[in-house]
Amino acid sequence: MEIIGAFDLPDEPWLKGHRGIDVLAVEDEPLRAPTAGTIRFAGSVAGMDTLSILTESGHVLSFQPASTSMRKGEEFSAGERIGTVGAGGHCERSCLHIGAWPAETDQRYVDPGKLFGQEQSVLLPLSRKPAEEPTGGGDATTSGAGAWGGHSNGRIPASAMCELASAAGQMLRCDAQAAFDRLSRAFEARFGSPISVTDAYRDYATQVILKRRKGRMAATPGTSNHGWALAVDLGSGINSFGSAQHRWMRANAPRFGWIHPGWARQSGSLPEPWHWEFRK
Ligand SMILES: [Zn+2]
Repeated sequence: MEIIGAFDLPDEPWLKGHRGIDVLAVEDEPLRAPTAGTIRFAGSVAGMDTLSILTESGHVLSFQPASTSMRKGEEFSAGERIGTVGAGGHCERSCLHIGAWPAETDQRYVDPGKLFGQEQSVLLPLSRKPAEEPTGGGDATTSGAGAWGGHSNGRIPASAMCELASAAGQMLRCDAQAAFDRLSRAFEARFGSPISVTDAYRDYATQVILKRRKGRMAATPGTSNHGWALAVDLGSGINSFGSAQHRWMRANAPRFGWIHPGWARQSGSLPEPWHWEFRK
């Protein structure tokens, strides 16, 4: 979870401060319960869609902007989807504000980060696949790429990845990198130059920026296979359906463990000739 606004409690209750934390988020992102609890309030507070919950530890957590289809008093377990990030918010970049206080107090604010830990994101993906990708499958058109190594999507340390020999600065999981470099050498033997890579691993913040720029054309942040360091976006002519290079990739990349997922094909739900994923 990327905190872009820190907790800054004023010395006196009437002073200006920041009574919570802001985490990087975009509209429509699923909101998950950091701990078990019940829905306490859902509605508008000073014109802002607000969702608040009562946690097992007796704290109130409030999220803004956020809404839910759950009812007041409804129970949930940790990790369950409890709502959706709304539009607006008080950050310059889009964010979700989280406030916290012990339920028995009159909003005596505490640092919410301390309640559930910064590793435990409220915005972890429910689905590990792009929203556009059809569910089910397991056939030759779905890669099955997803979580590994206990990492969170878009928050993989550089030390857990390897840089492509054929594309400086581009990182992938090490087995995917080794396989891609072999694929790129085979491509070079046929077409005279290695495959150009526009994008490989994409961190969470970059996914958020892309989502804002591309709207429904981009995966919901935290769900892209780029965030798992198992997807690449390619140039070198591969980025055009029907080109010799694209056809060569369709015929040969699977031997190296790289496939063009069904949703990204010309007949798919979101045609992206440039997008390839590692299957193993
Ligand atoms: Zn892509």
